[in-house]
Amino acid sequence: MSALLERIRKGEILLSDGAMGTMLMEHGLESGKAPETINVHRPEILEEIAKRYIEAGADIVQTNTFGASPLKLARSNLADKTREINQAGVKAARKAAGNTVLVSASVGPSGCILKPYGDTEHEVVMDGFLEQITALTETGIDAICIETMTDIVEALLALDAAKKAAPAIPVMVTMTFEPTAKGFFTIMGTSIAHAAKELENHGADIIGSNCGNGMEQMIRIAREFCTHTKLPLIIQPNAGLPERKEGKIWYPESPQFFAAKVPELIESGVSIIGGCCGTTPEHIAAMRNVIMNKK
Ligand SMILES: [Zn+2]
Repeated sequence: MSALLERIRKGEILLSDGAMGTMLMEHGLESGKAPETINVHRPEILEEIAKRYIEAGADIVQTNTFGASPLKLARSNLADKTREINQAGVKAARKAAGNTVLVSASVGPSGCILKPYGDTEHEVVMDGFLEQITALTETGIDAICIETMTDIVEALLALDAAKKAAPAIPVMVTMTFEPTAKGFFTIMGTSIAHAAKELENHGADIIGSNCGNGMEQMIRIAREFCTHTKLPLIIQPNAGLPERKEGKIWYPESPQFFAAKVPELIESGVSIIGGCCGTTPEHIAAMRNVIMNKK
């Protein structure tokens, strides 16, 4: 059994890292450029960010490969650099993580809309994920995290690609839900019950949600997941919903607020807790204190 699943089986609550995008902008990365180009040109920045999360107490760090499927990279004319960009992302994270911290390879949506809603063939998206995930696994990762998915069909294509390319590596799949009058749904109309059933049927090892919601909604999402699956859960909330303050994007949920909500999140059955948009090493450090006190 993989180190990640073994630790979860023993009842450990694992802490993942926080946001990457906001940290990259702090380091002067221009928004609008493919953020994955940094993997090749300035890997030391990624190593530095991963180190800050590890110092904050993260058990898992994510690679900067969220948008590194060839379909997404094609928008910046970088599709032919898929292998190089993904492998450089893993190397930077591994350099900071050593052998004690786990490296999880981030895989985000392809950016294409699948037939019949859009014009992209399923095989094209599947091949793209296969190419990306093959590159990621060749460099040595502990897990794959397919995240911010809104279309269950695309999530399943990525999951199938991961199981094909790397059957021994645990796969986490997280979708982004929105609260509606009828409950939580992705913008493409997938419910938590449907997501849980399909992801479990396709062999996901860990499932859950990231992005789109702050702590309080994520606790409700976790509780609902628990009623539909026995798989371990991963939850990565945003630091609340972004607001504009003096021309800047600002996230309202503080590290202290995050920490105060951790016990409820754990009670709702979550095995891995991390942060999405707006979360910082301070959020991770604050949660680490609570999780340590739990043991
Ligand atoms: Zn996010």
